[in-house]
Amino acid sequence: MTANSPSAAPVTLLGLGAMGTALARTWLAAGHPLTVWNRSAARTEPLVAEGAKAAATAAQAVAAGDLVIVCLLDDASVEEALKDTDLTGKDLVNLTTTTPAQARGRAAWATARGARYLDGGIMAVPPMIGVPEAGGYVFYSGAPDLFETHEKTLAVPAGTRFVGADPGHAALHDVALLSAMYGMFAGTAHAFALIREESIDPIAFAPLLAEWITAMADPHIAQTADQLTTGDYTTNVVSNLGMQTAGTPTFLATAAEQGVSPELLNPYFALMRRRLAEGSPSEDLTGVVDLLRR
Ligand code: NDP
Repeated sequence: MTANSPSAAPVTLLGLGAMGTALARTWLAAGHPLTVWNRSAARTEPLVAEGAKAAATAAQAVAAGDLVIVCLLDDASVEEALKDTDLTGKDLVNLTTTTPAQARGRAAWATARGARYLDGGIMAVPPMIGVPEAGGYVFYSGAPDLFETHEKTLAVPAGTRFVGADPGHAALHDVALLSAMYGMFAGTAHAFALIREESIDPIAFAPLLAEWITAMADPHIAQTADQLTTGDYTTNVVSNLGMQTAGTPTFLATAAEQGVSPELLNPYFALMRRRLAEGSPSEDLTGVVDLLRR
């Protein structure tokens, strides 16, 4: 246990699941006086042994300090936990994963109860919390003055990235990045399925796959962003839509030869074909973004 540092601001934390517990330990280790509350009180016990104070109710926990951090399962659990608390004058930081609309709704709800509100999207798993070299961070959006007031305290568990005053934007950044990650997971699953029944060692194949995905990611992402910004999808095109779409039967035939379902490839290929059918063979793949917006 670390003695409380005189300069370390008091923190109230509601929610001691896997993530909340990891967050709590970092504030304790940094000497912040910490008040915790959890629906199942037993989860407070290890933290009390490490120096936290346990509040019997969420209302008492909120009353204990001006900075109230919430890390619960979902938006409904936040509503339930906070409904009988007095948020007047509080700085409420909600690290619970929600949709952007839920975050905006929660911001309006908190503001109507007299609180300043900041929403957060955690880009880390619990073992990365309190481990700066692991690279985890939290997107924040909402009240800029709240963020400025507490930036040092918020930076204790993980890096901070403020993405604007719209309280929905932290959640939107969070979900956008994770959605792209699932696309990568899908491609990886397909690639491993292709080699699964062959005498190709997955362990030997893995670095080839990782190296290729990494090499493709940066230029593809940067090019897409540039083209969406200029509206010109035909400049600096390396592999155009016409060529890439012409190649898709080879991917589908290879999947068939290997006895692998094309169900993860098909949706993206269908969008490429639709864009091509609109008459844009010399474009990059950026037009797919516009098809998704329709
Ligand atoms: P857990 O499932 O480990 O914990 C859930 C927490 O929510 C517990 O404290 C639980 O209390 C509480 N809870 C659930 N329902 C209610 C309710 N109705 N009223 C009051 N409290 C309730 O989840 P995590 O700690 O892992 O995740 C917390 C948040 O962090 C989530 O929004 C998650 O998406 C986000 N997050 C988690 C990551 C991870 O890898 N774990 C990564 C990034 C974000 P009780 O103990 O009583 O059940």
